[in-house]
Amino acid sequence: MDFVTLDDGDFTYGVADEILPGVSRVIAHNPSKFTYRGTGVYILGSDDDVAVIDPGPDLADHRSALATALDGRTVRSILVTHCHADHSPLAAWLAAESGAPTYAYGPHAGSVDEWDIGVLPDDFGRAPEPEPGSPEAEAAATEPKVEESTDFDFTPDVEVRSGDVVFEVPGLTVTALHTPGHTSNHTCFALDSDAAGKVLFTGDHVMGWSTTVVSPPDGHMGDYISSLRTVAGRSDAVAIPTHGAPIPDPARFVGDLVAHRLEREAQVLGAVRRGLSTIPEMVTDLYAAVRIELHRPAGASVLGHLVKLVDDGAVVASSGRPRLDASYAAA
Ligand SMILES: [Zn+2]
Repeated sequence: MDFVTLDDGDFTYGVADEILPGVSRVIAHNPSKFTYRGTGVYILGSDDDVAVIDPGPDLADHRSALATALDGRTVRSILVTHCHADHSPLAAWLAAESGAPTYAYGPHAGSVDEWDIGVLPDDFGRAPEPEPGSPEAEAAATEPKVEESTDFDFTPDVEVRSGDVVFEVPGLTVTALHTPGHTSNHTCFALDSDAAGKVLFTGDHVMGWSTTVVSPPDGHMGDYISSLRTVAGRSDAVAIPTHGAPIPDPARFVGDLVAHRLEREAQVLGAVRRGLSTIPEMVTDLYAAVRIELHRPAGASVLGHLVKLVDDGAVVASSGRPRLDASYAAA
């Protein structure tokens, strides 16, 4: 994979930057291992009427940066890709300020099809505790503890489906594209404008700097790969993720993402066929070159692949529905 980076000199936190004609970006100061440089909020439209994609986290400095960026313009639509805490929380404030409706596939809907995914053994993937007072211990104490948490409070005013028009001004239309996988309600937004051409805002579905977390039960690898294929089959000139820089030639980039996921799936299936029956055994084998602190998230990712392999009939789980603590065999 050729990842796309966003470097420090390419942006200033909290300052609206026109990245394409009629498209400006404000980056919130919430960098982390999940959000990269932070949440990129996009403002699209004319000098008067605009839509805002993913208002972002509810942080005071970010709220005032958005207020400044939107000063003198009328917000007509608030578009939300999904309900992680770095994307949707400020939608409520912006809706109250502007009176504009919020649009999304639905609220975070994981509960519709959730099952108990179990737990990994407690001692699996734990780095040894650093010596008290050592530089490692100090670094661990100051590292921000940021999890990809869910905003269960968000409910859109308008529930959208693929093809629905969510914002329109002369010369510019935005439509929804449901892309489940990262979450079941994840939706991309497609801009078609005279000034900027065809641009797909991909949220967390396609990111340039990293692969996307797909963790069961709400994340679904089978859905994720089909949603990638949907995006790869489009004719967008550029894909713009929430985190990181615009991605040129999205069809090729997303085609590579599909190949990367299928390669990992083949490795997981190969591991099961070699007789590795538990997720810790598979992770220890497949992620041998990766730092031990990443083995627990890797376990969630392997579970994602096993859910698809069980759905496809290639693998069976001792628990029926795949769990982190089940054992697995080739079907
Ligand atoms: Zn997310």
